[in-house]
Amino acid sequence: MNTARHPDLTADCASCAALCCVVFAFDQSESFGIDKAAGEVCPNLDCNGSCSIFDDRSRLGFSGCIAYDCHGAGQVVTQEVFDGRSWRDDPGLMTRMGDALSVLRQIHEKLLLLSAAEKLPLGKSEQLELSELQLQLAPQTEWTEAKLREFPLVEASRQVSDFLTGLRRHINIPR
Ligand code: SF4
Repeated sequence: MNTARHPDLTADCASCAALCCVVFAFDQSESFGIDKAAGEVCPNLDCNGSCSIFDDRSRLGFSGCIAYDCHGAGQVVTQEVFDGRSWRDDPGLMTRMGDALSVLRQIHEKLLLLSAAEKLPLGKSEQLELSELQLQLAPQTEWTEAKLREFPLVEASRQVSDFLTGLRRHINIPR
C-alpha cells in the first residue's frame, strides 16, 4: 500500500530562494511598510538572500513578514520542483516559482490540519480516510510544476474540510 510522504511543514528559509520576499505583491499597510509588485524583489532583501532588517521588521512596519508562514512549501518549491535553481539566475523562473508556491503552500496548510487530526482517537475508517487524504496531498513521487498546476486544490480542500467537520465528535466543544 502506498503511504504519504511526510514533508517538513516548518519553513527552512536557508533552503529557499527567498520566494516570499519576491513573488508576492503587497500594498503598503500596517503589515507591510511599502508597496511592492509581484515579482519585485523587496529592497530589504540582501544579495545573500537574507532580510537586512530581520530583527527590526516589526518596528519598521513589516509585521506581515513575521506573520507569514509558508509551512515548508518554499524549500520544496526551490529544491524539489526547481531542482535548486533560483529566480536570481533566471528571472524567467519568478512567476513560475510563485505559481508553484501558491499551490503548495495551500497543500501544506491542509497537511498541517491533518497532522493535528492525527492526534485524535480516530476510528479505523477515519484513519483510512486520513491516510488517503495525506497521500493525495503528499504523494510519494516528487512534485513538479505540472503536477502542482493540475492539482485539484478546490476539491481537495473541500474533502479535507468535510473530513475535519466529521471529527467534531472527538472534540468537546462547550455550548
Ligand atoms: S522585509 Fe525582509 S522578510 Fe519582509 S519581504 Fe522584505 S526581505 Fe523579506
